Formats: sequence, structure tokens, C-alpha cells
Amino acid sequence: MSDCIFCKIINKEIPSKIIYEDAICLAFLDISPATKGHTLVIPKKHYQNFLDIDSDTLQHITTITQKLAKKILRNVDAKGCNILTNTGLEAGQTVFHFHIHIIPRFNEKDPVTLSLVDNSNIYDIEEVYQLIQK
Ligand code: 5GP
Ligand code: ZN
Repeated sequence: MSDCIFCKIINKEIPSKIIYEDAICLAFLDISPATKGHTLVIPKKHYQNFLDIDSDTLQHITTITQKLAKKILRNVDAKGCNILTNTGLEAGQTVFHFHIHIIPRFNEKDPVTLSLVDNSNIYDIEEVYQLIQK
């Protein structure tokens, strides 16, 4: 028995609105949707996050995410979407079972706060470039 809420969803111990399932992954509606159609795609095997998951499983999930995003956007009549995966507590991850968010977008003014701020005045790009290349 796992304490992980998403493992419980996979095992059907707690209900969810499943929109896709195969041997490797599951997709279901987010319980607190940021927008209409907000969906989570998860591996059936428990991995903590993007850094933890094996690349074959990740490839499969990415392919399924693309297929589902097309279907969801068509069916909710969205104009775009944010595809994202929060990685670590500091990055806003709250459930530590890897998941990709599909967040349909209808308008730039949708009430979701995902836009990145420009902090180029704080970080020296050349310095950071050298650091990352080490
Ligand atoms: P994170 O913040 O880790 O990137 O995203 C976790 C997501 O899981 C949140 O958007 C949250 O609403 C969703 N979530 C948490 N618990 C449940 C649940 O029991 N059922 C469903 N369907 N979604 C959940
Ligand atoms: Zn889990």
C-alpha cells in the first residue's frame, strides 16, 4: 500500500476522471483545474519527478501527452496550452509522483499565473553561461 495519492489513483483506490489509460501511463482531470480541461499525465510506476523518471517511460508519456493535448484542446475549444512539469518543492511540486500538466489556454488573460518575469537585470548571462558549461 502506497501513501502516494497518484499511486492510489492508479490503483483505483481513490476515484478520478480518467481520460486515457494504457500499460505505462494514465491521464486524468486535475481536481483543482487552473483552466477548463486541465489534465495530468502520469506514469503507472512511481517516479518522483522529471529528473528521476527513466527515459523510455518519459518518451512514451511525452508522446501520449502530445496526442492528448491535441484532443483536449479540440474538445474544449482552447487556442493553446501550457505543458509543464514542476520539479521539486522549490519549483512548486506538491505531489511527488512525476506528472505532466496539460493546461488549456483560451486567452492570454486566463486567470493562471504562469508567466515568467524578466530578471536579466539580476543575472549576468555570460557568467551563467560559463557556469552551466562546466
Ligand atoms: P504539482 O503542484 O505537484 O505540480 O501538481 C499537483 C497537481 O495535482 C495539482 O494541480 C493538484 O490540483 C492535483 N491533485 C492533487 N491531489 C489530487 C487528487 O486527489 N486528484 C486529482 N485529480 N488531482 C489532484
Ligand atoms: Zn506514486
